[in-house]
Amino acid sequence: MVLGKTRVTQDTYLVGIGVSPGIAIGEISLVDQRPLIDESLIEVTEIEDEIKRFHRAVESARHQLKKIKQAVSRQQHLREHLYILDTHLLILDDEMLIQQTEEQIRRQFNAESALTKVLDQLRMLFNDIEDEYLRERRSDVDAVGERLIRILTGVSERSLGKIGTKSLVVAHDLSPAETMQMDRTKILGFITDKGGRTSHTAILARSLDIPAVVGLESVTSLAVDQMPVIIDGSTGVVILNPSERTFKEYLARKQKYEFLEEELEAYRDLPAVTADQVKITLRANLEMESEFQLAQKHAAEGVGLYRTEFLFLGRSEPPTEEEQYEAYCRILTEAGEESVTIRTLDIGGDKFIPELNLEDEANPAMGLRAIRFSLREESLFRTQLRAILRASSCGRVRLLFPMITGVAEVRACRSILNDVQRDLDREGIAYDTNISVGIMIETPAAVIISHLLAQEVDFFSIGTNDLIQYTLAVDRGNEFVAYLYDPLHPAVLRALKVVCDAANAAQIPVCICGEMAGEPLYAMALAGLGLNELSMNPACIPRVKRVLRQITKAEGEALIAKLLALPVSKDVTTMIDKEMRARLPDIFEQPLI
Ligand code: PEP
Ligand code: MG
Repeated sequence: MVLGKTRVTQDTYLVGIGVSPGIAIGEISLVDQRPLIDESLIEVTEIEDEIKRFHRAVESARHQLKKIKQAVSRQQHLREHLYILDTHLLILDDEMLIQQTEEQIRRQFNAESALTKVLDQLRMLFNDIEDEYLRERRSDVDAVGERLIRILTGVSERSLGKIGTKSLVVAHDLSPAETMQMDRTKILGFITDKGGRTSHTAILARSLDIPAVVGLESVTSLAVDQMPVIIDGSTGVVILNPSERTFKEYLARKQKYEFLEEELEAYRDLPAVTADQVKITLRANLEMESEFQLAQKHAAEGVGLYRTEFLFLGRSEPPTEEEQYEAYCRILTEAGEESVTIRTLDIGGDKFIPELNLEDEANPAMGLRAIRFSLREESLFRTQLRAILRASSCGRVRLLFPMITGVAEVRACRSILNDVQRDLDREGIAYDTNISVGIMIETPAAVIISHLLAQEVDFFSIGTNDLIQYTLAVDRGNEFVAYLYDPLHPAVLRALKVVCDAANAAQIPVCICGEMAGEPLYAMALAGLGLNELSMNPACIPRVKRVLRQITKAEGEALIAKLLALPVSKDVTTMIDKEMRARLPDIFEQPLI
């Protein structure tokens, strides 16, 4: 046991955030040799030389990053993530970072402690950001800071590319650059103290298909080299020093998981139809282009929700029409014959973009969000509509407006759309003149008037994430009321029924694109509601397809009728659970622990 480490007893369970699914069992490779910083002050006469030393370190960091970029660009599956390294190169040019570090050096701090102070200040600024995605960008600043400090202190860079055996990497944090250099044949998985679901490192783990758990807070203080460990990237569970029994249990789970994955592979090329041949199209939700690969891997039938706000995040100016056009076209070209539902900017609420200078609102979820923002910032909206329309000549686009509450809003959107179409006609620019226009049904108002809205649009897409939030008055991001956030609440089920009935009566397609769509346990009930499409995280597609292929629509209708008759949500949960386990025991068996 290493001195200074807390002794780890057998079966020490830790729970972090599972960011990349799969089970990995192996030995720890602790790669956390963090540089020590000498905090002694320098002489006034040494200041100028120290500033030069800092600038040399910045130059070396730039050189290192460019070298990694070169190496990474030779790897096809990582090429699309090169932008992360570009972000790091941009941070190295950041005036605030450079000038403030120089200022601290002038106060006689040596370069590494000056830089540490500046990084601490930056970290505090990031901590105050509410938006999870932007807050996670702090990790990019940390990664650049650590690189500079390693250069300044002479502690060489950790190279994960050089880890020899089949191991599980444990680190305080991993930079995206380090993650990119991981050799999949050698590294079975990784776990870190820091990190969140949307950090670039987490995104890369999914692209690399490496099980990963982040946000464990203090795993590095417990872990030692070669300690046996089990990680479950689906549940976020990490077990240090597993007992023989736990080891066997997880080995069985791992085999089962892999077997199921292989078995699910068999579903890849089978159609998504119920046993009585009712077609339910299974599409992918996308936040970033890089996720399209996963959609293809799981044979998603196009994209049911492209959340375009992610194109606007993490940059100082909104993307230009050309940039948007190119981004949309790339996805459409990849999607080929399949359609791509492009949702216009859904900003505000929990998706905050400081660069867009949104007002400070007391109640942002009910404020200037989504379509309300677009209708107010009309020129931004027109730019996006132009880009989407132009892209409609690259493939099959469906246009989707978020957070609609009334018919007038839909008509306002359509009127601007018509205007933009006329502009394109005048300019002789091609676009799909029959573009399908749909709306998100994610407010109770839209549910109640869904029969009226159905007359105005070509399709509905139900955003259950928000619909649950607004129906049950439960902030979807507030952990204190999370226990009330309930997809099976009778009010939610009734709302879904009203919308599906309205869409079916008007003969327009109806889809769910909230998280509920990807839950296999709900698939049969959703089929019974008469949904034509489900759009989800692509990794959920095989499991949902597997359920659908084993049930009939009539069975789904019988189930939903029984569920709708129950007044208490807990009873709905129990019934759905019982019915699905009884019908499909191999899929919905009791968990092992
Ligand atoms: C939803 O609200 O269900 C949805 C799909 O949109 P978002 O999660 O982006 O708000
Ligand atoms: Mg929503």
